[in-house]
Amino acid sequence: MFIELVESLRCPRPHEFTWLVASTLEMAGRDIRRGLLGCPSCSARYPIRDGVVDFQTRDGTTPIPDSTPLASATGDAELAMRVAALFDLTSPGGFIVLAGEWGHAAPALLGVVEGVEILVLNTTVALTSGNGISLARTDGAIPIRPGAARAIALDERHSPHVGAAARALRQYGRLVAPVGATLPADLEELARDGRDWVATKRLETTEAVPLRRG
Ligand SMILES: [Zn+2]
Repeated sequence: MFIELVESLRCPRPHEFTWLVASTLEMAGRDIRRGLLGCPSCSARYPIRDGVVDFQTRDGTTPIPDSTPLASATGDAELAMRVAALFDLTSPGGFIVLAGEWGHAAPALLGVVEGVEILVLNTTVALTSGNGISLARTDGAIPIRPGAARAIALDERHSPHVGAAARALRQYGRLVAPVGATLPADLEELARDGRDWVATKRLETTEAVPLRRG
């Protein structure tokens, strides 16, 4: 887990957002290899092992199956190009979230875009944390603080969490989800094909206050 990403994470339990507190036991460069994330709000503690944050609560949910080895060291280059296009990754900066099957794109994506951190949730292929890739496991939840992520891609397994993913996006951030997923009200659809839709987060549409002129 890239240490600078910790401030963009949140406790997946249902309570108001608070920042998590990191205690590090072992670092590799800027990557936390071993340590703990603590939630000051509910006192939950989430271990970091081999660079992977474990947010799983294990309260009656189905455990996530172990990931399978990558077919090649670069993963799925075609999928990486698809992600870069859907996310419009033409400029550096920020971090993106790839959930589940989208993790196949992570290694090749590092070679396509510069200066963008990648957080893979519940990867279905074996990935190593570090050098631009951070890893976390959850019960399916999106442990990202509101307004933090540049773009998020959800696979079928994570599609029930579109609402949480939309909240985690920054303004004009992009969300990609399977065509069967419901488009959250605060997102505007940009395009869809047979597999996925891509949508962007509009400006906040809370009651507009007319400016008084005089
Ligand atoms: Zn908490």
